[in-house]
Amino acid sequence: MLLTITTTHQPATDLGYLLYKHPARVQTFKLAFGEAHVFYPETSEDHCTAALLLDINPVGLVRGKKDFALSQYVNDRPYVASSFLSVAIAQVYGTALNGTCKDRPELAQTPIPLEATMSVLPSRGGAELLTRLFEPLGYTVSAEPHVLDSQFPDWGMSPYYTLTLTHTVRLADLLSHLYMLIPVLDNDKHYYVGDGEVQKLLAKGEGWLSGHPEKDLITRRYLKHQRSLQRAALEQLVDEDTDSLKQDEEEIAAEDQLIEPEAKISLHQQRLGAALAVLKNSGAQRVLDLGCGEGRLLRLLLDEKQFTEIVGMDVSHRSLEMAADRLKLDHMPDRQRARLTLIQGSLMYRDARLQGFDAAAVVEVIEHLDPPRLAAFERVLFEFAHPATVVITTPNAEYNIMWESLPAGQFRHRDHRFEWTRAEFQAWAEGICERFGYTVRYLPIGPEDATVGAPSQMAVFDVIQQ
Ligand code: SAH
Repeated sequence: MLLTITTTHQPATDLGYLLYKHPARVQTFKLAFGEAHVFYPETSEDHCTAALLLDINPVGLVRGKKDFALSQYVNDRPYVASSFLSVAIAQVYGTALNGTCKDRPELAQTPIPLEATMSVLPSRGGAELLTRLFEPLGYTVSAEPHVLDSQFPDWGMSPYYTLTLTHTVRLADLLSHLYMLIPVLDNDKHYYVGDGEVQKLLAKGEGWLSGHPEKDLITRRYLKHQRSLQRAALEQLVDEDTDSLKQDEEEIAAEDQLIEPEAKISLHQQRLGAALAVLKNSGAQRVLDLGCGEGRLLRLLLDEKQFTEIVGMDVSHRSLEMAADRLKLDHMPDRQRARLTLIQGSLMYRDARLQGFDAAAVVEVIEHLDPPRLAAFERVLFEFAHPATVVITTPNAEYNIMWESLPAGQFRHRDHRFEWTRAEFQAWAEGICERFGYTVRYLPIGPEDATVGAPSQMAVFDVIQQ
């Protein structure tokens, strides 16, 4: 099972930065179901190819399964690109899949000429399905079918193809498309689908899935196989979630360290305190905490009797589990418990569960969203959910120069997609007011400097009553 990615962007060797894999090295990654090797068959200024070779251990695949059957040994799993390749993409190219690149941040956000080739790829739906899935996303699709057995041409064609996709596209988008569509093409039972998969579907489908003509087929197939938990794959997927959580923890801890020693309350506490104060002042009773993470704000909201209905939403299933733990949901008295609901969902998708609330808080979340996707978020929150009050906080990029440990031009956290100056944040907020009928005011958070302002910034939106 081989995936090669080639670029002719110059210098082509920048592909190494984008993938976080050095072109001069062969690297091997241990996965629960085998090994992945990354190497570069060609590297030059104008042409560079990275190869991901997946070597699946067929015995490892069935180890630990209770219901042994011969079919588990005699199947095509080790030899074809199935969802194991998806898992390998997430594991080995995870940072690139998220669109993050420390050394070439602009390039990660720029469409570049890319060609991806996969052999041997099963397509249950033939070459036609390959075209239906990839052409709407802008790819030139070339699929070369394989006969079932070259010695016996009468046996006819196999469901396997060598697929080549060509497009000028962001590397992160290419990887997201492959990550999601490979299991859709294969449509066979192989790995566990649970809540976490719904989350991944939403997260990786951001910006393209909702407009795809085959959206129904993609969603149905992707979420179809509820049985057969492939334990090995699941472990890998859970690790991945834990990683992103660790990042959030690191981010908050790092920021707290950066705060002047005399500031007794951490910057994050100040943000949460400010958000809470605004929500209380607004008179809101039914409140949303969007991108609630591990539930730090939810804890504060629960302590205030004024809030009769509190909903925390996050795209990360793992974060919600941590929130449930942290808030001791299982041991909460019934009346308290009845006030709080945790839901999984993405702020990129219109969601009826978010309607009918008085106020919403979005604390340190927008900078994690891809700039081209912000417009979707704006409509989801301000047009469809439409709470009377909205509190949004985000870092103030101007303040970064106050932190000596932060290299110039770098974001505070590697998952941040942008950090705005006060003027940028305010220009964005004014646009929202015009389009959706709100007024806005701004509050600094943290120690304020005369020139660069405070480390964090808050905008409070109030709906204009008709
Ligand atoms: N508001 C929390 C967590 C901030 S970290 C706090 O202040 O402590 C950012 C959070 O946004 C993470 O939990 C992340 O999972 C979530 N997030 C990122 N993209 C999202 C999306 N599209 N929809 C919902 N939540 C998202």
